[in-house]
Amino acid sequence: MQSIELFYPLLATPKNIIITCHQKPDGDAMGSSLGLYHFLQQMNHHVTVISPTNWADFLNWMPGVDAVLDYEADRKKAQQIIDAADILFCLDFNILHRTKNLEQPLAKASCIKVLIDHHQEPQTQAFDYGVSDTSKSSTCEMVYDFIVQSGHQHLINQNVASCLYTGVMTDTGSFRFPSTKASVHKMVAHLKDLGLEHSSIHSHIFDSALENKLRFTGFVLLNRMEVLYELNTAIMYVYSADLKRFSIKTGDTEGLVNYLLSIQGIRFGAIVIDRDEERKWSFRSKGNFDVNTFARTHFEGGGHFNAAGGSSKKSLETTLADFKRIIQQYEADLNKPN
Ligand code: 5GP
Ligand code: MN
Repeated sequence: MQSIELFYPLLATPKNIIITCHQKPDGDAMGSSLGLYHFLQQMNHHVTVISPTNWADFLNWMPGVDAVLDYEADRKKAQQIIDAADILFCLDFNILHRTKNLEQPLAKASCIKVLIDHHQEPQTQAFDYGVSDTSKSSTCEMVYDFIVQSGHQHLINQNVASCLYTGVMTDTGSFRFPSTKASVHKMVAHLKDLGLEHSSIHSHIFDSALENKLRFTGFVLLNRMEVLYELNTAIMYVYSADLKRFSIKTGDTEGLVNYLLSIQGIRFGAIVIDRDEERKWSFRSKGNFDVNTFARTHFEGGGHFNAAGGSSKKSLETTLADFKRIIQQYEADLNKPN
């Protein structure tokens, strides 16, 4: 993978460009994709955002979202666009299998592949150009850097600003995680100077739940949570029947895991959700417990030091029992002072 600076000259003439991100895109994946989309469109490129799967309803206010192609909903059209592409941007993931069914079409695509991402251990051989920086708060911050450093700061309009703000805000937990460096606040100050309306974005993201989501949250907190005080760890587990009972949709379970870290003394929070094709884990930690390595070692996953995910093909009961057995070996780490 060559440095991203060497890629900038390729944007000088109009190209067919695809932007993609990880499956079930979150605020950062969708925000960086659409932020880059609005930027590149102004440079007269022909741009399509292809999402590997559907996404949460709370992202549907985003400018440009109606033009995003869901790969699972229209594979044929997506394949035609991939076949005609000159350039593919891969945002907010760094290993092709994070795009689920889109993995093979992307691997086979003959176009130039560009990575912009902040996760650990990138699959660098899969990309021609790119930037991978785990110190960055979000991929949205990196797309902002990309626009500024390539000399196109003047093309940051309201649409670009709203999209990029969304990912910076959601990936930093509303500016509270340690990844919120001065550069993040400087970027947001710049976007504010350009007229960014941040309050309405917070409302779209956080004040758009339906009643069933809140009732589901209450149900899980009451009935599907265990606290292992001797390990400073808390767990949640959700059966597929629970998801059906409360008519839970993509995105409705996002944020549940964070409740675990709000318990005094808890340093490691884990949630497992019984999805059709797999049991999906989310891991969160505070301080010096490395959930990226934990997820990689035990649950075929990865992510960041304090936020990662993984999966298991075993039943919910079995993967939960595996987890409870595995964490015993981390007792010393989980009790080490930060
Ligand atoms: P979440 O728990 O919110 O789904 O994900 C937390 C972080 O871990 C995100 O940055 C996400 O991209 C990453 N992540 C989630 N699941 C996986 C996985 O199965 N594999 C890898 N490599 N990263 C994951
Ligand atoms: Mn991200």
